[in-house]
Amino acid sequence: MLARRSLLLLSAALLPAAAAPPLVVVASFSILADLVRQVAGGRVRVVSLVGPDQDLHAYEPRPSDLRTLAGADMLVLNGLGVEGWSARMAQASGFKGRIVVASKGVRPLHPATGGAAGADPAEGQYDPHAWQDVANVKRYVATIRDGLAAIDPAGADAYRAGAAAYLVQLDRLDADIRAAYAPIPAARRRVITTHDALAYYGRAYGLEFRAPLGLSTESEPTAKDIAALERQIRGEHITALFFENISNNTLLGQIARDTGVRVGGELYSDALSPPDGPAATYIAMMRHNLVQIVAALR
Ligand SMILES: [Zn+2]
Repeated sequence: MLARRSLLLLSAALLPAAAAPPLVVVASFSILADLVRQVAGGRVRVVSLVGPDQDLHAYEPRPSDLRTLAGADMLVLNGLGVEGWSARMAQASGFKGRIVVASKGVRPLHPATGGAAGADPAEGQYDPHAWQDVANVKRYVATIRDGLAAIDPAGADAYRAGAAAYLVQLDRLDADIRAAYAPIPAARRRVITTHDALAYYGRAYGLEFRAPLGLSTESEPTAKDIAALERQIRGEHITALFFENISNNTLLGQIARDTGVRVGGELYSDALSPPDGPAATYIAMMRHNLVQIVAALR
């Protein structure tokens, strides 16, 4: 009797989901796609335009991406100018869904000064890598949660619960990062990466990052730029140098050889790893990077 009742309840719970096709949420890159999955659980289908280990800065929409977007209910963007293609793509695809800019409300960094920005974000004006500060990602999660509730009011409670549980994990992550850096002297907290992806991380957790490439991997440093960076590296106490999963690391390998600075490993900056890799989720990515950096700075 009990078994039969459970079965009936189970069918009732499954039927509505089976009757309607799931909502489709398109995210611009793998880190955002993970945040949507953490909030939505299995309630929506999430597609990432830029996949694991792929470079967001080099993305160009493919015809298949336009077809995917055409049938989607929501598009989640980072904002801060990193998806310059998004407005044209949304229009060309005939996308009629909701656009959510996940970085809404975060305090953006200005690329040239590393200081806070004032006016409205425009393409190339601000540092887009705000996800490298866990406090910013908590805002991303709240914005994504509200966007999901707007396109699917019946799921609002589920999204609230999903976001609340995930925010607890993010708080723990943030506390663990701070605790891990606390014993490291300020003078040792200087790191070189391939491109300028970690300024928010540096601001949040008290590290200094330098990079031969600017905010986009698409920028090309001159021989003069590289020589100046190498002089800086030799003049200051730079502890470690890190490759990035999305970048061509030839230039950084050259700088490591020229200056004798040790390569500390590979950081995940703008993309997750594939599911079987060490950074399959945002939290796994941040923990992987933390272990690598702390080991190199100690
Ligand atoms: Zn980047």
